[in-house]
Amino acid sequence: MRPIILNPLFAEVTARRGVGPQMARLLERLGITRMRDLLFHLPTGRIERRRISSLDDAAVGQGAIVPLTAQSYRSGSSARAPFRVDAFDPAGNHAAIVYFGRAQGMARKAFPIGEPRIVAGRVDRYGDMLQIVHPDHVVAPAEAASIREAEPVYPLTEGLANSRLATLVAEAIGDAPDLAEWIEPSLVATRGWPAWKAALSAAHDGHAAARERLAYDELFAGQLALLLVRRASGARKGRPIAGDGSLRARLSLPFALTGAQRRTIAEIDGDMAQPRPMLRLLQGDVGSGKTLVALMALLSAVECGAQGAFLAPTEILARQHCETLRRMLVGLPVEVALLTGREKGRVRESVLMGLADGTIHILVGTHAIFQEAVNYRDLALVVVDEQHKFGVAQRLMLAQKGRVPPHLLAMTATPIPRTLVLAAHGEMDESRLDELPPGRTPVDTRVISVERLPEVVDGLARHLESGQRAYWVCPLVEESANADSAAAEERAALLKARFGTSVGLVHGRMKGPERDAVMEAFKTGTISLLVATTVIEVGVDVPEASLMVIENAERFGLAQLHQLRGRVGRGAAASRCLLLRAPSVSENARARLALMRETNDGFRIAEEDLKLRGGGELLGTRQSGDAAFHIATPEQVERLIETARDDARLLLDRDGGLEGERGQAARNALYLFERDAGVALLRGG
Ligand code: ADP
Ligand code: MG
Repeated sequence: MRPIILNPLFAEVTARRGVGPQMARLLERLGITRMRDLLFHLPTGRIERRRISSLDDAAVGQGAIVPLTAQSYRSGSSARAPFRVDAFDPAGNHAAIVYFGRAQGMARKAFPIGEPRIVAGRVDRYGDMLQIVHPDHVVAPAEAASIREAEPVYPLTEGLANSRLATLVAEAIGDAPDLAEWIEPSLVATRGWPAWKAALSAAHDGHAAARERLAYDELFAGQLALLLVRRASGARKGRPIAGDGSLRARLSLPFALTGAQRRTIAEIDGDMAQPRPMLRLLQGDVGSGKTLVALMALLSAVECGAQGAFLAPTEILARQHCETLRRMLVGLPVEVALLTGREKGRVRESVLMGLADGTIHILVGTHAIFQEAVNYRDLALVVVDEQHKFGVAQRLMLAQKGRVPPHLLAMTATPIPRTLVLAAHGEMDESRLDELPPGRTPVDTRVISVERLPEVVDGLARHLESGQRAYWVCPLVEESANADSAAAEERAALLKARFGTSVGLVHGRMKGPERDAVMEAFKTGTISLLVATTVIEVGVDVPEASLMVIENAERFGLAQLHQLRGRVGRGAAASRCLLLRAPSVSENARARLALMRETNDGFRIAEEDLKLRGGGELLGTRQSGDAAFHIATPEQVERLIETARDDARLLLDRDGGLEGERGQAARNALYLFERDAGVALLRGG
């Protein structure tokens, strides 16, 4: 159970006075639902303002808090022109207060003619005039003290003012309990880190050491949880798996394994034969044939009378993997079942029964396969496809499944630096599939300005007329599935106007069965042009598709573009990828797109991408729930992760049950960062 001292931190924000349902909705958009989330919503910057009595003391480009009185208004000549309040300070200096958009009402209310106001904002020079655009605060002189001279600047959402959020955060910090130190004392001393609660307020005031400490806390909790998983697994031993090859021998593959596939399979066999659980990361470029390697490992488990699970990042992929495996296993006595959020009622029941009694040998699915209700008779191996979406939390869930901890094979097309692997997964062994199957023709990639869209569509017409299939990927509009879907719908409508019923559409907001039907139609060729959002990003395999158009390519990460491009070039036909870009893009974007044109080498692309964007992509989207870390930046991960691992290790060496004073404090850290499944393991083992 969670220590009582932490309860206030896990209280809902709505329990606070003044946070009603509407405010709660706004906060939720920022991922804030509980008090702890407010504490960890760190500012991106800081406004500093100087209190001055006249504009004579104003520094251009700097924040100021200054008394001003409105003398007159000036509306613009057009509706879109700014609204201007001409105001004067007590010394008679003039400044214009400028409002853009439909803010006239707000401006008039804030500045009644002739009434003195205290105004906070940045003073700029416009021609030979001083101006303040959209002041941060305007109050009556009696309330002057309510304006702070320094204010953190927070990531916001529309409808939520920075000052309001800053107040909430400040209150939350004030109410936070003092927590005992969980970091090794000598480390705290050498780094000059403040204690936890002090670090909170200092971090919000922009102090680097304090922020670093909070990031470290997060990494430390993650490493501690991973080590607990490791120890719990290690203590319980793994189950040695060595298949007799009877099923593998009966596979009839239309091709020979590549050398890299054979080597990798041998590495995996070697691991699984050990009496401790395998923890191996398989890195292989798009199209390098990871699925087959996974199948071989799964068959080994089945040959031993055990079961395997294959976890896919999306439902589309889970379905596809299930089909692929079933196709390859035709005629073999191996039962493959599918379980995603969509299998419900009877279907789900019968899968659960088959897993429990062992008649199902291989389960393919999404995260649903780890739900509490899912019990395996004898789970010996878990394969995780595209592992960066499989975080620490899932690992913990997995560790709690079954009596014997299963072997784990994680697969990724994106090479991941060692420190990031360590951060997200703990120590892992690595295999590389560094060889593509023979006969692949590299995808011919071109970068084209969207101004030439009509030509692109004409080219597409020729492509479709010749009986080939194509993808059209629509831009990421915002970080919102709805906006993406709308853009895709609009594009599909335009293309349908020209190409009629041969056009299909898939996007994230569609219902599962609808989406399946479209994917199926594209696979069989009833549909020859598939308009899609990035739901097709990973793994979709339709070898007949040989043209890919990606709109607003400059908005995608390189690794993501490479994944998307990997959907073509899978069949015999020469394939092409057209990257449409905005008419004018930055130098950086130009360079990135040029690299896509230049190389098909996923490892090189990933390296460059990492240089250009940092590791954020690999660690998940910060705002979304599946991010590995919410506080630590990729740079901090890189710098602090090994220390965090050593610190956590040392603590567990001294106090394996986390019973001592520091051990108890460390339990708080696990709860605070929601790694408390690690605490559960302590009780069990
Ligand atoms: P990825 O590594 O991207 O997951 P897949 O496992 O989907 O790649 O394999 C891509 C394609 O290559 C599939 O159509 C698969 O059947 C094929 N393939 C896999 N191994 C070989 C091989 N050794 N020779 C020829 N084709 C292969
Ligand atoms: Mg794959």
